[in-house]
Amino acid sequence: MTAPKLVAGNWKMNGRMVHLEEALGIATASAAAGDEVDVLLCPPATLLAPMASALTGSNTFVGGQDCHANQSGAHTGEVSAAMLVDAGASHVILGHSERRRDHHEGSADIAAKVQAAWSEGLVAILCIGETEAERDAGSTLTVLAEQLSASLPEGATPENTVIAYEPVWAIGTGRTPSVAQITEAHAAIRAHVPAGIRLLYGGSVTPQNAAAIFATDNVDGALVGGASLKAEDFTPIIDALK
Ligand code: PGA
Repeated sequence: MTAPKLVAGNWKMNGRMVHLEEALGIATASAAAGDEVDVLLCPPATLLAPMASALTGSNTFVGGQDCHANQSGAHTGEVSAAMLVDAGASHVILGHSERRRDHHEGSADIAAKVQAAWSEGLVAILCIGETEAERDAGSTLTVLAEQLSASLPEGATPENTVIAYEPVWAIGTGRTPSVAQITEAHAAIRAHVPAGIRLLYGGSVTPQNAAAIFATDNVDGALVGGASLKAEDFTPIIDALK
């Protein structure tokens, strides 16, 4: 059986208690989508437990946006994979380009986090993607291959791993790659990962462009930032995947 498509919302550093109402609206859309689509919300760490509790009984998953590679210890400000599980998470986004950029995370750091996530039973959503300079230099596919081989450890399966292709230049910019560019990148990623692993596209996905992106070969869903914050924007994206 092939896994359902997956649409994941990355709330980044957005979301207060009051925004749980949006999560409930999104859960309604998720319930309407039934078994065809998996819906995941990744709020800031402070909102994980209240969101998981608000969504109890719904078919919407809750996930973290990062975790530490260690289980516990002297790491001020950090959250471990086990702590995410305690808070109700089933998934965790790892290697997002904002983490790579702002926290200098390299592929080896990310690989260790993927292992930590797996060891706690979390599904790792591993983000990879080229910068604009790398695309302009014609090295997109090389960069993707390097990031995959260095940040995805042995042992990835469709049950424990999802890959998100997120061109850095498309994140939060309103710019998206052409269908041909997404097709090329996803085919290359598909060739590098074990069969059946879901491949998400991420970067400026909107209700307007979602259907065309979802119709692209080897696109099994999306990782959505800005348009996942409001149920009115996220619902049509979930619907476009049905
Ligand atoms: P965006 O962010 O949809 O706001 O471009 C996507 C992401 O960073 O995952």
